[in-house]
Amino acid sequence: MAIRIMCPNLKCRRILAVPPDARGKTIRCRNCGAMVEVPQQGAAKPEAPAAVETSAESDDS
Ligand SMILES: [Zn+2]
Repeated sequence: MAIRIMCPNLKCRRILAVPPDARGKTIRCRNCGAMVEVPQQGAAKPEAPAAVETSAESDDS
């Protein structure tokens, strides 16, 4: 069964299917060329979202 991981590149976010053999290795995204680490576990563990931009935060008091 192939492992599905999402490309960390926010401008790409392509779902990459990699063989279980690639666990613990780093593969290259075919779409954008970014290096993607394949998690050891087969279970898809969602990564914590990286710093969400909250620029539109207005304090109206
Ligand atoms: Zn990519």
